[in-house]
Amino acid sequence: MPSLHDRDMVRSKAEEFETSPLRDILAWAWETFGERAAIGTSFQGAGLVAMHTAYSHGFRFPVFTIDTGLLFPETLALKQQIETQLGTTIESLHPDQTLAEQAAELGPELWKSKPDLCCSLRKVIPLQKKLSTIDVWITGLRRQQNQSRECTQIVELYHFDVLRDLYIIKLNPMATWTREQVQDYIKVHDLPLNALTAQGYRSIGCQPCTRPVTEGESERAGRWTGFDKSECGIHTFLGSNI
Ligand code: SF4
Repeated sequence: MPSLHDRDMVRSKAEEFETSPLRDILAWAWETFGERAAIGTSFQGAGLVAMHTAYSHGFRFPVFTIDTGLLFPETLALKQQIETQLGTTIESLHPDQTLAEQAAELGPELWKSKPDLCCSLRKVIPLQKKLSTIDVWITGLRRQQNQSRECTQIVELYHFDVLRDLYIIKLNPMATWTREQVQDYIKVHDLPLNALTAQGYRSIGCQPCTRPVTEGESERAGRWTGFDKSECGIHTFLGSNI
């Protein structure tokens, strides 16, 4: 259970950072937590901007990604490109079971029958394990991405493990950024992008659950088509942000 001090600190920092430049928010995380703060990325534009800004200023946060075993080859190629560009190794978090083991136990193509269970096994549980080893999780969440992200605060206290009653500081330094601002930054700094963006993909996750979007659709409309689902669960599994 976090102390009142933690809650007050988080609320006051969230308010303070509402108008702060990205660099200043990341500087606070680096100076306060050092390598106990880590960037989690799925290589979407905002995450790339956060990583590039951090490393450009010498804030060498560890970086991790969740490799479900179902990522596009283009995403894995981008991971390698970013590692070379930043001069770092990005840790891949893996599910406990291979796809074959999961299919043997729960049936083939679980994403078609039970996508929430599939996301829990292949994304949420590996992430929970990682979060229990650090103090701050830095994300690329933006309020503009879809309705469920509109209330994202720049600093939050996140109850990421109910069973063990574990909390973490979740830092969303890109929360106020628009898609256009992200695109401008990427252009100005010549950052590599997922090759699939040229084919109309915007939010890019696992192959079976991602499609290109058309003009006018929300950025995350291409995820889990046919299901009443817009989040994999890693940002919503407890719904008790403070
Ligand atoms: S996004 Fe689809 S394939 Fe990936 S873990 Fe979730 S349900 Fe499974």
